[in-house]
Amino acid sequence: MSGALFAADALLPHGWRRNVHLAWDDAGRLTQVDVDSTAMPDVVVAAGPVLPGMPNLHSHAFQRAIAGLTEYRAQERDSFWSWRMLMYRFALKLDPMQLEAIALHLYVEMLEAGYTAVCEFHYVHHDVDGRPYADDAALAVALLRAAHRAGIGLTLLPVLYQTGGFGGQSPQADQRRFIRSTDSMLSLLERLKPLCDAQGARLGLAPHSLRAVPQASLNEALAGLASIDATAPIHIHIAEQTREVDDCIAWSGQRPVAWLLDHAPVDARWCLVHATHMDADEYRRAAASGAVAGLCPTTEANLGDGLFDFAAWRDAGGAWGIGSDSHVCVNAAEELLMLEYGQRLATRARNVGTTALQPDVATAMTLGAVAGGAQASGRAIGGLAVGQQADFVVLDATHIALAGLTPTQMLASHVFASHRSSAIDAVWVGGQPRVAAGRHVLHDSAAAAFVTARSQLLVLEAP
Ligand SMILES: [Zn+2]
Repeated sequence: MSGALFAADALLPHGWRRNVHLAWDDAGRLTQVDVDSTAMPDVVVAAGPVLPGMPNLHSHAFQRAIAGLTEYRAQERDSFWSWRMLMYRFALKLDPMQLEAIALHLYVEMLEAGYTAVCEFHYVHHDVDGRPYADDAALAVALLRAAHRAGIGLTLLPVLYQTGGFGGQSPQADQRRFIRSTDSMLSLLERLKPLCDAQGARLGLAPHSLRAVPQASLNEALAGLASIDATAPIHIHIAEQTREVDDCIAWSGQRPVAWLLDHAPVDARWCLVHATHMDADEYRRAAASGAVAGLCPTTEANLGDGLFDFAAWRDAGGAWGIGSDSHVCVNAAEELLMLEYGQRLATRARNVGTTALQPDVATAMTLGAVAGGAQASGRAIGGLAVGQQADFVVLDATHIALAGLTPTQMLASHVFASHRSSAIDAVWVGGQPRVAAGRHVLHDSAAAAFVTARSQLLVLEAP
């Protein structure tokens, strides 16, 4: 349904503008973004500054149900790898109805927290015994349904996962629900393409990582994907852990990002998820490839991954966006806060995330993450501009953290000083209201179904 909104202040791709009239068509695409306009009597007036909707470029929905449950010492030195054992145990029990309940609640949370789209890196494919479901797409369909019910934009990235380590190592028994042949993956993509098209979702592919996909399979899968959609997004986990870097060097003599750049057609369709551990040459080359760096600051902190060198990436002209990944935090503002604070702690400098054009760090980071997130999503969600989707967030100008401030200060306060309370009033996706007065209409029912599903699944040992 077409519609319009008047904002006294709105963050457009080149910065804050006054008296902005937004209008969109029946498809939810912006047809007018007029600045220095005047409010018309029949047009809704935003209750505060309007921000572009934030794409969440990396999500494993099912992990929302174990967020907060692995915060105890299980080994002498806990690490990503000991966390992964617990995550696998959980993943082995999930069924399609539970996944839909968990994902629906998660997507409602995302919308309430300022994310208007999500890239779902989906790797649990099969039944608990490792055999395909009667409908091979059962779990992917559960995610599509959850996104549709919540009203969040979706980029669905079925994950190709074949080996348990570099050099074609056999997968472990607890990876059996993830494993697919390349042919079976291409069949899945063919099955999902019309379903995605029908709800305005984008279909892509996610080779899980270099340790999980041999080179021949990578090439074959990329060729198959190109025959389905030559511009489809491609996401890959890369260089998240130093052990992964060491194993890659032992296998190939190269670091993971360098290997990928030398052996795959990495370009602007690609999202390099994490890319935490790169040397100076990899920063330069990966940025120049046009790929987006998929940064997940709260998850990377939670898992003890290490720190991405944001200034090196920005100075090399690299695109980037944010993802909530394991969902220890589902809040677009906090993800930006954690990204900036990591850089401050590492460099002993402040306002690292600014650009030459934009000295206000929250504004600069919001614009950067929206642009890169939209690119990684492969959807027209790149902010408040004609031709893009009418996806936007209205801040609550009466919230204590924001009241009486300028729009730039309000966004800064929303990111850095809202003390984990939400300063979001409304969220719109494709010109449709999804959150009003801070609440999604499914807030309570989705939460109740999530708690039920989590309780059914919780068999992790108590600490
Ligand atoms: Zn991930």
